[in-house]
Amino acid sequence: MGTHYSSREMIDKLIGFDTVSRNSNMELIDFVADYLESHGISSTRVFNDDKTKANLYATVGPMIEGGIVLSGHTDVVPVEGQPWSTDPFTVVEKDGRLYGRGTSDMKSFSAIALSKVPEMIEKGLSSPIHFALSYDEEVGCIGAPRMIEQIAANLPRPRAVIVGEPTMMDIVSAHKGILTLVTTVTGREAHSSLVEDGVSAVMVGAKLISYITDMMAENKARSDADCPFSPPYTTLTCGVVNGGTAGNIIARECSFMWDIRHIPEDDPMMFVNRFIAHCDEEVLPGLRKIAPEASIVTEIRSNVPALNPEDSGEAEMLVRSLTGKNTASAVSYAAEAGQFQQAGFSTVLCGPGSIGVAHQPNEYIDIAQVKAAEEFMSKLIDRLSQ
Ligand SMILES: [Zn+2]
Repeated sequence: MGTHYSSREMIDKLIGFDTVSRNSNMELIDFVADYLESHGISSTRVFNDDKTKANLYATVGPMIEGGIVLSGHTDVVPVEGQPWSTDPFTVVEKDGRLYGRGTSDMKSFSAIALSKVPEMIEKGLSSPIHFALSYDEEVGCIGAPRMIEQIAANLPRPRAVIVGEPTMMDIVSAHKGILTLVTTVTGREAHSSLVEDGVSAVMVGAKLISYITDMMAENKARSDADCPFSPPYTTLTCGVVNGGTAGNIIARECSFMWDIRHIPEDDPMMFVNRFIAHCDEEVLPGLRKIAPEASIVTEIRSNVPALNPEDSGEAEMLVRSLTGKNTASAVSYAAEAGQFQQAGFSTVLCGPGSIGVAHQPNEYIDIAQVKAAEEFMSKLIDRLSQ
């Protein structure tokens, strides 16, 4: 009964949906919902505001406490401007690898887990497996929070969450958080010879960016050699600057995008508040002497909490016993794991593939990693069927 896919067929299927974050992921979600439905499993969609994208969660097994959440994001990063040798949305097998956008980050994990649904049903789970598929992870982990809220409110309490980001099936118990911001400086235009009549937003912006650089340098100076992250401190970087209209015009506007990737011990708001205080108290009064309309506005775009290592956490203990691995590590990228943990769930990252090829042209997953994840899922199913 129901539709069957091998893990390879399911990977092919999911990679085939072009779910670059700017696109809708509804075709993929509908496909998964139909597939689960064919096995008698109902799923719940949690939509974005304009209903163009959705998260999906579903439970296989009994509706009781103590289940395991398998979490994966459905979106992928763009392929434009990257020298791909093959069609990124068609899986191509070559030299023991599967090539395609999302093979490592991170459709294979979800695909392998989904292909095991018939096995989950056949073995008769005594504890449930909950699927949690999100949208818009790659643009700031925007989709998952509203699903996590519903999982916390509507499902019998799970005991662990496994987020299948590509870790080469190693256990990752900590990740940095990320807070993204946009700062807009408004000054006053003037002929570039008349420097005392204008306020250059571009030059003010340059100083503020260098203030951000200085905060990072302080973090580096006070960093702890035992900190497991690389680099072992909170980083602050500016990725985009826009401003000015011509070389001989003092620029009226300048905006820049920056981010704070923080270690769990650091509160990112500390840096935001310090930056804003610097703008308001040290910089703005000088600008307003020339241009009373001058302003510096900083907006937070997204805020993803860090994943803290848990002391003998359920999720880590479970994954250790399934993989036989005795160590857990820390990664510097942000993921949805911190959001699950913040909602009160024991959480780790563990998934097939390498973060080293994620977001790259010719992204691939080793077939050996697919096998390792299949084994992991089978062990998990056996464990939960006892
Ligand atoms: Zn990812």
